[in-house]
Amino acid sequence: MSRLFGLLLCGALFAAPALAAPAHEHGVATLDVSLEGHALDIALDSPLDNLLGFEHAPTTEVQRTQVVAMVRRLRDAGAVLQPNSGARCTLADVHMASSALPPAMLGEAGAQVSANHEPPGHADLAADFHFDCVHPEALRELRVGFFEAFSGFRLIRVQAVGPHGQSYAELTASAPVFEWKPAHD
Ligand SMILES: [Zn+2]
Repeated sequence: MSRLFGLLLCGALFAAPALAAPAHEHGVATLDVSLEGHALDIALDSPLDNLLGFEHAPTTEVQRTQVVAMVRRLRDAGAVLQPNSGARCTLADVHMASSALPPAMLGEAGAQVSANHEPPGHADLAADFHFDCVHPEALRELRVGFFEAFSGFRLIRVQAVGPHGQSYAELTASAPVFEWKPAHD
């Protein structure tokens, strides 16, 4: 196989997951990671079921408590998303949206988002985490703690874009660390 063909094939494999909209599949979620300058942006798209065990506005006190606990855990994102310490990243802000939960319940202002690609009766949570990194060139790893913090995550598909190009990985509870691959050449 020629080197050029190899690179093209490589590019096609990495690009393929980005083409398909994330399907609503319980247990599965996507993380889009982008590094630009000092800004590390991480976007989670997950069925609410992974985080709460239900996918509607809370109707009982127990469910309300679960939502409050979910929001607290996600806003304290340093506990669930940990870049390696050498990059010295600090959490700048977090935004969340769900078609099933009122923005005020998520600590957000503005109007409730409408359903996107979820099947009827189902709902996702979109969460954006923004970190500022003092040494972005030192980023090597991102430890993803959603498997430990919430009981519903089975597989997290990570797509990363940054100075080293694109990469893709599948994380599980036993392999929860995303690694930035060094540049090819
Ligand atoms: Zn669902």
